[in-house]
Amino acid sequence: MTFLSNRINNLSESQTIKMAKLGRELSAKGIDVINLSFGEPDFFTPEYVKEAAKKSIDENYSYYTPVSGYPDLRKVITEKLLKENGLTYNFDQIVVSTGAKQSLANAVLCLINPGDEVIVPTPYWVSYSEMIKLAEGETVFINATVENDFKITAAQLEAAITPKTKLFMFSSPCNPTGSVYSKTELAALAAVFEKYPEIYIISDEIYEHINFVGEHTSIASFDAIKDRVILINGFSKSYAMTGWRVGYMASNKKLADACDKLQGQITSGTSSIAQRAALAAYQGTLDSVKEMVAEFKKRRDVVYALLSAIPGVKVNLPDGAFYFFPEVKSYFGKSSGSYTINNAEDLCLYILNEAHVSTVTGEAFGNEDCIRISYAAAEDKLRDAVSRIAGALAKLS
Ligand code: PMP
Ligand code: GLU
Repeated sequence: MTFLSNRINNLSESQTIKMAKLGRELSAKGIDVINLSFGEPDFFTPEYVKEAAKKSIDENYSYYTPVSGYPDLRKVITEKLLKENGLTYNFDQIVVSTGAKQSLANAVLCLINPGDEVIVPTPYWVSYSEMIKLAEGETVFINATVENDFKITAAQLEAAITPKTKLFMFSSPCNPTGSVYSKTELAALAAVFEKYPEIYIISDEIYEHINFVGEHTSIASFDAIKDRVILINGFSKSYAMTGWRVGYMASNKKLADACDKLQGQITSGTSSIAQRAALAAYQGTLDSVKEMVAEFKKRRDVVYALLSAIPGVKVNLPDGAFYFFPEVKSYFGKSSGSYTINNAEDLCLYILNEAHVSTVTGEAFGNEDCIRISYAAAEDKLRDAVSRIAGALAKLS
């Protein structure tokens, strides 16, 4: 009998978290590391949100909360979904969780039986495949490439569907590619789902506001499939609240009840104080979000120009989120000193050790030819980081 369960033995460590940890370890040794591996805004949580949290402590918001979140928070979420997304939900269709990560895991665990197929376009966010593994589902990948702005077509989707398909899971704006599906592109995918009423769709919209095209469409806005869409969102990115741990799911009532039951056995409701802060965030204006997005857009343009100028690096112009996902395979097979680069992971470790910049291997996102670079850092740091990366790559021959 093994000490640890097969469940945990088969699970991969989160590469985003691993690379951030390696970067921190080098920093602790006094090395000047620029961390571009972790996807979190480098902004502070808005003042009015922090004030609401402080007030809630004084008002003794210290008790267990309802498992799915305070009713007033759930109601404000429904108001946001109506106002910003044109989507109607009742408050009892909202489950607030300890981050969007838990909302995603809840939905996967509540929907997937062993052997059920889950279609995931690659590149995908690192934890999707592992959540599916935990639920003993089978992941069916659809490859999207840099040539197609990392987006899949309706024809690719339909070709991947089998009688075992239970779920489709994607993010738009996408982590790690920054690609944003337009309304027309989503309509084409929705038209396919309309033909297959057994398939559910997880739409991860956590980067909704970090969008440079100025328009976000949720696939839940297509009425014919809305009841089968599980919309995931949260406060980590839009309100720079990664550490507060508040995310949510909006879905049909049956799945919301199932997630409430699961959460009730595993974590209960998320932090009372974080929920009061989240409520204040949604009651405020989008001003802080807009300021942050304008800054991200400036940085995106700077980094795009710098990355595009590096020989052998192929890059798309991301429309949202705060990542670049450059194709770097032209460096595979090259070496410098004791380093030989066989794959993207070797390249990330080389860049970390040689240039002191932490990035994440594309393998973690289902694409072996790329690496992920987060640009959630100050512009001078980004310029320095890309110049260091370019220098390290130039040494490879
Ligand atoms: N989905 C995507 C696409 C993400 O990048 C992240 C990372 N923050 C999450 C979900 C999880 O977010 P949270 O911090 O709310 O758990
Ligand atoms: N979502 C962020 C990322 O992709 C944070 C890390 C994580 O939650 O895995 O880097």
